[in-house]
Amino acid sequence: MKVGVLALQGAAGLHLAALASVGAAALAVRRPDELADVDRLILPGGESTTISMLLEANGLVQPLAERIAGGMAVLGTCAGLLLLATDVADGRDDQRCFGALDISARRNAYGPQSESFEAPLQVAALGPAPLTAIFIRSPVVERTGPDVEVLARLDGRPVLCRQGRVWGCTFHPELSGDLRLHRLFCEEAP
Ligand code: GLN
Repeated sequence: MKVGVLALQGAAGLHLAALASVGAAALAVRRPDELADVDRLILPGGESTTISMLLEANGLVQPLAERIAGGMAVLGTCAGLLLLATDVADGRDDQRCFGALDISARRNAYGPQSESFEAPLQVAALGPAPLTAIFIRSPVVERTGPDVEVLARLDGRPVLCRQGRVWGCTFHPELSGDLRLHRLFCEEAP
């Protein structure tokens, strides 16, 4: 299976390495023809406003919207979650949200980079051992729609959720060296 990582800006490299480690063919996606070639896609952390502008500049907005609407599995991490959300608070007016994950999220809600932290998460879908989640200028999910399944919470707030084949987390799963979330995303029935 070919799994793409959007590589316009942000933390693509370690996602590609994690995907390769779980046996996927991992491909960087920067152009529409590269998007057309992958079976699923990770939207990495980074800066959602910048990624949004670069999606426009590279002609990827429409093709990506079509792939998501067509049922491609997609995982948005941190900035990537913001791109998939229905509503983003404290964003830029022109920042793109694909509305694929029915959540409202607030950007930078934990504060600046210096307020980064890590926390152990219980994720039943990943087994009993906690997942170390690293939060870097992360958003907070303030609302989830009725079709959104919350897979993990921190202090009562959703930090990992999915709506069908659209997954989002507010942390950086590629930084902890724990491959379970990448494996689960790749192994879900196509
Ligand atoms: N605060 C960033 C944004 O708004 C997200 C941070 C991250 O992806 N680590 O896009």
